[in-house]
Amino acid sequence: MKGQDLLKTGALRHGGIMANYRCTAACRHCLYACSPARTAGYISSDIAEAVCSLLKQGGCGSVHIGGGEPFLDIEGLLMTVRKLRHKGIRLEYIETNAYWAAREDEARNILKRLQAEGVEALCISVDPFHAEYVPYAYPLRLHALCNEIGMGDFLWKPQFIQVLSSLGSLEPHSRAQMERKLSSAYIGETARAYGIRLGGRAVNIEQEYARYRQVEELLDDAPCYGLLSTDHFHVDMQGYFIPPGCTGLRLPLVEAINSTAPEKYPVFEALYYRGIRGLLHLAGSYGFRTSQEGYPSKCNLCFHIRRYLGKYAFQELDSDHYEAALQYY
Ligand code: SF4
Ligand code: SF4
Repeated sequence: MKGQDLLKTGALRHGGIMANYRCTAACRHCLYACSPARTAGYISSDIAEAVCSLLKQGGCGSVHIGGGEPFLDIEGLLMTVRKLRHKGIRLEYIETNAYWAAREDEARNILKRLQAEGVEALCISVDPFHAEYVPYAYPLRLHALCNEIGMGDFLWKPQFIQVLSSLGSLEPHSRAQMERKLSSAYIGETARAYGIRLGGRAVNIEQEYARYRQVEELLDDAPCYGLLSTDHFHVDMQGYFIPPGCTGLRLPLVEAINSTAPEKYPVFEALYYRGIRGLLHLAGSYGFRTSQEGYPSKCNLCFHIRRYLGKYAFQELDSDHYEAALQYY
């Protein structure tokens, strides 16, 4: 890619560090396709150090930490918190699904350890998709514990507490139970209320509910410049820059900030400069053929093209992402 099109030094704004991909849940809207089946592992000390240095170089003054479920490795989480502090990068909050609040005394101890390291806030997920895996009493308990010890927190999203109130709070609830007790359209209603991006595992939501259109209707010439947006980007446990929204694509953060060799990332470049039409043209030369029944959207077509190209050696494609996205729905 041309150097001038890469992230500019000083340009990194709102972002997050994804400490892992493994999660105790496998939410049907998960943009990163996390689940208990994803490869175990956590950001290492060396990668955390390098990522923090690069974030600083890129002008990033604050980040959040997410995953996966970052609390699967408390020591790794605390290490990451310390790395940020040593680099002078403010930690805005840590995201969690609150699975670790099953036992109040243990959760309180963990919160106190975080507090001792200067952690100021948690973002605690509560909604019907999470409640398929995590009893919603846990996020509410964690919220109460944060209030008790003086840790900042916000529930994401609080309007779902009322929605969930007709369900038992101490056990998870299947899709069938949700459809029976909440609404037969609970998936679509929850997705709309969230305003989710229909990438990652959420491609299945779109495939189930949206109208399919023929490929010619979906093609346009709009370049996907958002791939190098620095507004809510992520850096994953391996030090890759993940564009906001377009998951399954990645660039080493060090190259995204400094430069990449021209034509090193053909899939990324096709999308960035020529959009979906450019990607389809590239994929055609690798034997990709579109489905007769069409696709629900341009981005859904993009997902399936990239999934197909994942079997070739394109370094900018995270081939694990595509299969993980199609599981657990
Ligand atoms: S949305 Fe969060 S809690 Fe749910 S699977 Fe993804 S990372 Fe895990
Ligand atoms: S077409 Fe692909 S790269 Fe472009 S915005 Fe949609 S998902 Fe992202």
